[in-house]
Amino acid sequence: MEYHDSEQAQELAAEAREFMNERVIPTEREYLGDGPVPEGVIAELRDEARERGIYCPQIGAEHGGGGYDFDDVLPLFEEAGRSLLGATAMRVDAPDEGNMHTIELVGTEWQKEEYLEPLVAGDISSGFSMTEPRSGAGSDPKMMQTRAEKDRAEQSSAGSARPEATQNGDEWVIDGHKWWTTQGDEADFLIVMARTDPDAHPYNGTSLFLVDADNPGVEIVEPTPHLGPSVVHSSHAEIRYDNVRIPEENLLGELNEGFTHAQERLSPARLTHCMRYTGMATRALNVAKAYMHDREAFDSKLSEKQSQRFDIAGMETRLHAVRTMVRHAARQIASEREARIPVSMSKVFAANTTQEAIDLAIQCTGGSGISRHLPLADFHESVRAFRIVDGADEVHKRVIARHAFEDAENPDELENLPTF
Ligand SMILES: Cc1cc2nc3c(=O)[nH]c(=O)nc-3n(C[C@H](O)[C@H](O)[C@H](O)COP(=O)(O)OP(=O)(O)OC[C@H]3O[C@@H](n4cnc5c(N)ncnc54)[C@H](O)[C@@H]3O)c2cc1C
Repeated sequence: MEYHDSEQAQELAAEAREFMNERVIPTEREYLGDGPVPEGVIAELRDEARERGIYCPQIGAEHGGGGYDFDDVLPLFEEAGRSLLGATAMRVDAPDEGNMHTIELVGTEWQKEEYLEPLVAGDISSGFSMTEPRSGAGSDPKMMQTRAEKDRAEQSSAGSARPEATQNGDEWVIDGHKWWTTQGDEADFLIVMARTDPDAHPYNGTSLFLVDADNPGVEIVEPTPHLGPSVVHSSHAEIRYDNVRIPEENLLGELNEGFTHAQERLSPARLTHCMRYTGMATRALNVAKAYMHDREAFDSKLSEKQSQRFDIAGMETRLHAVRTMVRHAARQIASEREARIPVSMSKVFAANTTQEAIDLAIQCTGGSGISRHLPLADFHESVRAFRIVDGADEVHKRVIARHAFEDAENPDELENLPTF
């Protein structure tokens, strides 16, 4: 299928496809049902991705990435998504990928050196700490309870490598309780979202902070047990921030602009999620078609049964629509930096389509789909969260509906309708 991606995008995707076919998918097959894949193996894959010029392509070359435009890297994300190992191998994996993007976009030079560059290199990892337990921020982030307040006490940063001008500056003190912070229990630093102006509407009174995980007062309560795949390691932590003191220079972006920055992080991150999961769904259908072509029942191949062929045809059509929608939204982001409605539409449609595609692939492969001999069981456990993370379906539909009803008042359309 032709998507009119740029030449650059097609070249990157072709290299990524070759890497996936030759190295990543064979490694995945070795560890299916026997994961997670060891760190050493991931490091080898990353070295190879570097040699092929497809390592962290989305970040500027001056920070260790490939320096490619957003819409040029998205088809590579689709390729990466064909295995749960792909994104990790090419360093386009969540949540680090979204965190890198945020620091690159709004971070200071010092923050880029201290946090972004080691993150790109794969020497450290990060978490994004926004969601809170039930009485706080979840689908409705306005309910955020975590606070950051200025404390004007002298800080004890003697001997620190921080910029001199700020060594004796004010400190922020963060108090709060978060959970579902992906890889929060192993991250070296966390981007924490906290209210900084309790009197303002939360959209105008919330900020982002870079918090080192070994900062006193950061307590990893526990990794939340969860549904999830076996071939790659994944964890989501409950974290308490108790009187966590951090210097002024760790404020990320503008004070009180945390929601704007989170939105700038989330819009592209939602699209890269869509791309990875589209790749996963594409591979799931490829596995199903290969099985159906190979397997006979009731005197013919499964791939010759019309009802199954129609199911696959319907799903291929929907996946084509997902790829098209995501590219449209990505191009809008690339030109206008913002594409709220196209992103919400893509996210809901992609999440539901990919979930149903993987479910269909499992149905088509019978018991084998449930086994861990094929990647489908892992895909099934991975894809379910996609309808919830980065905004549940209903939250995005709310945004789409608000836009859809903006011009609803239109008496002319009802002119011929009798009124009684
Ligand atoms: C695998 C995974 C990874 C995650 N990673 C991170 C992370 O790294 N950092 C982070 O901060 N958070 C993370 N989250 C949290 C995620 O962002 C939240 O789970 C999500 O925003 C929903 O919030 P909640 O769980 O509090 O659900 P709730 O807010 O309690 O909502 C529950 C359900 O209510 C429904 N609902 C909500 N609003 C409406 C409405 N207006 N109308 C109708 N129905 C509605 C939706 O179906 C929703 O799923 C992660 C979650 C998962 C599962």
